[in-house]
Amino acid sequence: MAKRSPLAEKLSEVRERIANACAKAHRETREVTLVAVTKTAAPEQIREILQLGVADLGESRVQVLAQRAAQINEFHQRALKSGEGMPPRIRWHMIGHLQRNKVKQVLPVIDFIHSIDSLRLAEEIDGIACRMERKVSVMLQVNASGEDQKYGIAVGASIHLAEQIDTMPNLQLVGLMAMGPLTQDKAEIRRVFARMREIFEEMKWNKVGGGHLRHLSMGMSNDFEEAIMEGATMVRIGSLLFGAEPAPAGEGEHPEPSSQSM
Ligand SMILES: *Cc1c(COP(=O)(O)O)cnc(C)c1O
Repeated sequence: MAKRSPLAEKLSEVRERIANACAKAHRETREVTLVAVTKTAAPEQIREILQLGVADLGESRVQVLAQRAAQINEFHQRALKSGEGMPPRIRWHMIGHLQRNKVKQVLPVIDFIHSIDSLRLAEEIDGIACRMERKVSVMLQVNASGEDQKYGIAVGASIHLAEQIDTMPNLQLVGLMAMGPLTQDKAEIRRVFARMREIFEEMKWNKVGGGHLRHLSMGMSNDFEEAIMEGATMVRIGSLLFGAEPAPAGEGEHPEPSSQSM
C-alpha cells in the first residue's frame, strides 16, 4: 500500500483527536464539523484535502478566499465529472474580520460568514444579499475572553445584536463564533468556551435565530479539544494540518495545465 502523504497523516491524527474529544464529552463525532483553514495551505494541499473528504474550507482574507474559491471550485467540478472521489460540494467559510467594503466581493463565494461583529456590518451584508436575492448564513463573533486585541462583539451586547440580525430578512443567524484566550492555561480556555456555551444556550432559550441557531464555531489547532468538550460544532483548524508557515507566495497559484482538464 502506498505510504500516506504528510497531510493525510495529519488529517487522520486530527480526526482521531476530534473523535476522542467527542467520546470524552459523550458526543457523536458527526456533531463536529472540521473546517480546514487554508491560510497557510498551498493550492495543491487544498486539492488534496478535498480528495481526503474534507468539504468545509475556511479563509480569513477576502481576496485570497475569492481567488481560491474560483480555482478550487473549478478543480472540484472537473474532478467530480471525471468520477474522482470527492465531497459532492464544497462549503466556503469566511472566518476573518470582514470590512464592509469587501462584502460584495466575498458574498458570491461563501456559504457561511463566522465573523459578524457589528450592526453596520450585518446591515451591509443584508443589503447586498437582498440585491443578490439570497439569504446568507451568518454567525456572531463574540469576544468571550474579553481580551481587547480581539475582534468580536462584547458578551453583554451580543444578545441585542443577535436580535437585530433576526429582523434582517436576508440574514439567517445560525450560530456563534469565538476565539479562545491567548493562554496555555487549559482551565482558563475551558472557562471561556463554557461561557460561550452559556450564551448560546441562553439565545436558544430565547428563540434567537428562530430555531436555526445550531452552531458554536470555536476551537483552533491549539484548543479544539477544549472547545469540543464545551459543545463546539465547528472547529477551525489550520496550522496543525498545513503547517504554521504560509506556503511560498504564488507557488502553484497558476491555472492547471490544459493536459489535466481531460
Ligand atoms: C487562522 C485562524 C484559524 C486557524 O488557526 P490555527 O491555529 O492555524 O488552527 C481559526 N480561526 C480563525 C478566525 C483564524 O484566523
